Amino acid sequence: MAPAQNPISSQHVAVIGAGAAGLVTARELRREGHTVVVFEREKQVGGLWIYSPKAESDPLSLDPTRSIVHSSVYESLRTNLPRECMGFTDFPFVPRFDDESRDSRRYPSHMEVLAYLQDFAREFNLEEMVRFETEVVRVEPVKGKWKVRSKTSGDISEDEIFDAVVVCNGHYTEPNIAHIPGIKLWPGKQIHSHNYRVPDPFESEVVVVIGNFASGADISRDIAKVAKEVHIASRASERDTYVKPPGPRNNLWVHSEIDTANEDGSIVFKNGKVIHADSIVYCTGYKYYFPFLDTNGYMSIDENRVEHLYKHVFPPALAPTLSFVGLPAMVSLSSKIDTYWGFEFTYHLCSDLFFIYFYQGIQFVMFEIQSKWVAAVLSGRFTLPSQDKMMEDITTTYATLDALGIPKRYTHKLGKVQCEYLNWIAEECDCPLVEHWRNQEIVRGYQRLVSHPETYRDEWDDDDLKEEAYRDFATKKLISFHPSYFLESSI
Ligand SMILES: Cc1cc2nc3c(=O)[nH]c(=O)nc-3n(C[C@H](O)[C@H](O)[C@H](O)COP(=O)(O)OP(=O)(O)OC[C@H]3O[C@@H](n4cnc5c(N)ncnc54)[C@H](O)[C@@H]3O)c2cc1C
Repeated sequence: MAPAQNPISSQHVAVIGAGAAGLVTARELRREGHTVVVFEREKQVGGLWIYSPKAESDPLSLDPTRSIVHSSVYESLRTNLPRECMGFTDFPFVPRFDDESRDSRRYPSHMEVLAYLQDFAREFNLEEMVRFETEVVRVEPVKGKWKVRSKTSGDISEDEIFDAVVVCNGHYTEPNIAHIPGIKLWPGKQIHSHNYRVPDPFESEVVVVIGNFASGADISRDIAKVAKEVHIASRASERDTYVKPPGPRNNLWVHSEIDTANEDGSIVFKNGKVIHADSIVYCTGYKYYFPFLDTNGYMSIDENRVEHLYKHVFPPALAPTLSFVGLPAMVSLSSKIDTYWGFEFTYHLCSDLFFIYFYQGIQFVMFEIQSKWVAAVLSGRFTLPSQDKMMEDITTTYATLDALGIPKRYTHKLGKVQCEYLNWIAEECDCPLVEHWRNQEIVRGYQRLVSHPETYRDEWDDDDLKEEAYRDFATKKLISFHPSYFLESSI
């Protein structure tokens, strides 16, 4: 899109959340000349990556009066992406060999990601824009502006008027629970992965893990270290699926989905197998949730589709002053090559392993590119299409998904078009495209994850890409050491 003719204007913008998305959004907005207030209900930056050994009081998170624990991170969690492709484009996530407390592995632990985000906030003085322990409880349009009501931990409420609001509240806190026929009478323990921290409570148990995307694949293996047996129920698998997944564990099986749960403690799978289980762990994902947002009914969530959003960012009738950074997630599903977003859309086939994985794409870079777009549109440097054109685009997208038989709940899952999607936005706001090595690291990392789920974080075959990444950082003067410093010392 051509740059707008309008003069550049500075807006007063509220950002909700100081996780990775909120932090980079605040930086991009300020760089563009806007004034920014970031509302964060926690005491520190980092969002999802602030691990808490404490889980919610209700293991299924169904009790509306429970006190919310934001993070879904479990103790053993390591990134599912190599660190070089995970970081922001101008602040690479490189190992800190100068600090012994840091984790220098290529796929580091959650603590290292939190430390990286803290470094990022420090480097760009972002904390000065953040109001900690301040929760946004209501956002509503008022005479062309936005009224934001916030509440401090001391229960003091305040209403303020902003020109624009960017929602970065994360979407891995509100659990989605799969319905199982007969579950009401089933006597065992039930927990959602949001409240899973360590495997110890499952020692010597027979455990059913529902879901085989990223968390399910990881958590089932974590539990298998101490449990007697772990049975994964995978909705995406064929009806007669009953296999041992690749890897050394001999107490782990993958089944098709659950048929029924019974009063006698048994679980019947659609493949006909029956087991007596002690616990069920739901790794069944999360729901988009914006309890504070009141748009007079304009925006709604239907089967986990946030309606209506132009390119997952702008609701046409409220754009550009309301926007969302961080909604899309990346997923690989089954074997379809089709057209979506006007690009080739490939659902990856892993049926030989009966595995269908959810895989994080380049999330932080996506936040960065989306927020550059939002900042540039708000300042008037670039314009959006007309409201009608944006709605037309959304309608066409929904129709395409329908025609392909892609369920509504996958609207914000981008699969292999992620890079094309990001480059489309990058071109819209004249910012650099996603680097070749970054995209390739995602593809090759994903292939390793499918073929070697137990070892993909510690053994790899893409040193060529890693080298390309570090040379790129050096060329752009983003690292102060020669690439060999990182390549030779890294593990
Ligand atoms: C188990 C798991 C593993 C993952 N692993 C990876 C990985 O390896 N690599 C990767 O790139 N991505 C990974 N992801 C994706 C991850 O979610 C993103 O990388 C990213 O950290 C999300 O950032 P965010 O800012 O969108 O949300 P969050 O980090 O969740 O931040 C949202 C912030 O908003 C605040 N907030 C929410 N509501 C309000 C309110 N009303 N008022 C004020 N503040 C509010 C919260 O307190 C929080 O700080 C993983 C996700 C999960 C669930």
